[in-house]
Amino acid sequence: MAQQTDSATHFGFSSVPLGDKQSMVDDVFHNVARRYDLMNDLMSGGLHRAWKAAMIARLNPPRTARPFALLDLAGGTGDVAFAAARAAGEGFRVVVCDINPDMLAVGRQRATAIHLEQRVSFVEANAEQLGFEDNRFDASTIAFGIRNVPRIEVALREAFRVLKPGGRFLCLEFSHVDLPLLDRAYELYSFNVIPLLGGVVTGDADAYRYLVESIRQFPKPAAFADMMRAAGFGRVSFEVLSGGIVALHSGWRL
Ligand code: SAM
Repeated sequence: MAQQTDSATHFGFSSVPLGDKQSMVDDVFHNVARRYDLMNDLMSGGLHRAWKAAMIARLNPPRTARPFALLDLAGGTGDVAFAAARAAGEGFRVVVCDINPDMLAVGRQRATAIHLEQRVSFVEANAEQLGFEDNRFDASTIAFGIRNVPRIEVALREAFRVLKPGGRFLCLEFSHVDLPLLDRAYELYSFNVIPLLGGVVTGDADAYRYLVESIRQFPKPAAFADMMRAAGFGRVSFEVLSGGIVALHSGWRL
């Protein structure tokens, strides 16, 4: 689990000054942005779509004209926002917020190509310091983003602050496989195949080495649930998907 102190944190398996992590993460996503979506499909065999669909099913946005505002944090190239918009009714709007302009640029192009630009907007922002007023959103989501944020507890407090009372926060993140055999196969695949594939597809094997290592540093689901409670969320729960490869966390602003 990531040890965060005032001065140090993890970037993958390396210990780095807390103040350096964000720029290192930004370099990773700058380098892979154009091939990010393709790489997600290749390395997960398309499974990431099912995990995101599970999060949208929990979100259950209204299928009517009733206004519903979603904030998708670290939303990258827009996958979650697009899936939610397709599942929702006419009153649905989503803001994709991400710190990386290259990821957002890909997302904007995709939104235009699939004619969702009226319902999906893109904002460059740090999840640790959102420019939105309190109580603005009906729900907030974050998929495979929170482990990249240097001060996770600060980002969780921000996600809580911008929610309306009664609003829900959902967080999808890689977790820890503890099924016999699957754990060994997953370990071999993660450390041998993913960086190799990342190198071939994006030209940056190190970016995918970081990804695999950062997953190992992320807290186990029960510990992350405690971090959510500490940020103010109530009725906190989680479910593990695909043998623990991924965990879906839920909390409410009560
Ligand atoms: N949510 C998208 C998805 O599931 O496909 C993208 C996930 S991608 C693995 C992680 C994203 O987190 C990147 O787009 C990165 O730029 C973003 N990110 C990293 N640190 C961030 C921060 N402090 N604030 C907002 N976004 C951040």
